[in-house]
Amino acid sequence: MLKKALIRCLDTFSGNIPLPLLQKLSRHQLLILFYHTVSDYNLPHIKHLYQIRNRKLFCKDLDYLLKYYKPIDLHQLIDHVEKNKPIPKTSIFLTFDDGLSECYHVIAPILKQKGIPATFFINSDFIDNKALMFRYKASFLIEKLKGEKNIDLLLKKHFKNYQLPYSNIKDSLLSVRWHQQALLDELALETGIEFNAFLQKQKPYLDTNQIKEMILDGFTFGSHSQNHPTYSKLNIDEQISQTLSSQEFTTNNFTLNYKVFAFPFTDAFVSKAFFERILEKEGFQLTFGGAGLKHELIKGHLQRFGMENSKLKTAQKMIHTEFCYYIIKSLFRKNIIQRD
Ligand SMILES: [Zn+2]
Repeated sequence: MLKKALIRCLDTFSGNIPLPLLQKLSRHQLLILFYHTVSDYNLPHIKHLYQIRNRKLFCKDLDYLLKYYKPIDLHQLIDHVEKNKPIPKTSIFLTFDDGLSECYHVIAPILKQKGIPATFFINSDFIDNKALMFRYKASFLIEKLKGEKNIDLLLKKHFKNYQLPYSNIKDSLLSVRWHQQALLDELALETGIEFNAFLQKQKPYLDTNQIKEMILDGFTFGSHSQNHPTYSKLNIDEQISQTLSSQEFTTNNFTLNYKVFAFPFTDAFVSKAFFERILEKEGFQLTFGGAGLKHELIKGHLQRFGMENSKLKTAQKMIHTEFCYYIIKSLFRKNIIQRD
């Protein structure tokens, strides 16, 4: 709540502070961003989760970023972190999570045209439209069921079977967590909604051939777990297994000579032991979180700032505000992530 109020306040003036000054004050040479997708269409599986950019806004974001930043690719970033190789004073690294098909149809052509490299993080269970992530199921159900007669009564009954509270269709379906996702399948079955038909018709995810083509174009790929759980809710063996299995799929299918991983949802409360195993023993070069501008003490783990919080805000406003927020936090040493 306090954070939201502070962000709102910073939004009113952050755009007037020159970015080079914010970069200097924050001592942040490298900005890492993440998006999921870019589309001019209504995407029912995403609509209720985050506010994606359309083509025009995305191009505007990139034009703004290119004014102040030099884009770097994954290999430059790995060399920088591993071997201290220098990168431009103001570098930007772009990433995209979840392996959605617009990465191929919309994002890659725009990035190619502007000469911007990027890394895409994929879930091994979903590529080739094998299954739909549970959050996408929730958004899809909300879109299809909202306004239906007696829907609240029906949902209430099913939520009760799972001993979950029910308030309204949107909030309640969005509150369903990874380990409760059978409830979403049950609701789909009961209401005649077929996720598989949607997967086959819409093809929301990238397929193997599209990924191969993107790799030939110079884009890089990393893993994002098998099926997108919240890592802090898994025990360490499950965390490791989700990470290694998804990376094995990515390495084997696309013969990659690097291993990078981005956490699904959040890396909050993930222990040092996970990073020791993945970065030191399993040979991953880098791992990524999504906590915004934050300083990580673990070498090889980097934080990214998400660009899909508001369609109404320009990249300038979002990034300037994030820098101001970081600088304020650093006064109280709240800008550093501590792990057990
Ligand atoms: Zn994700």
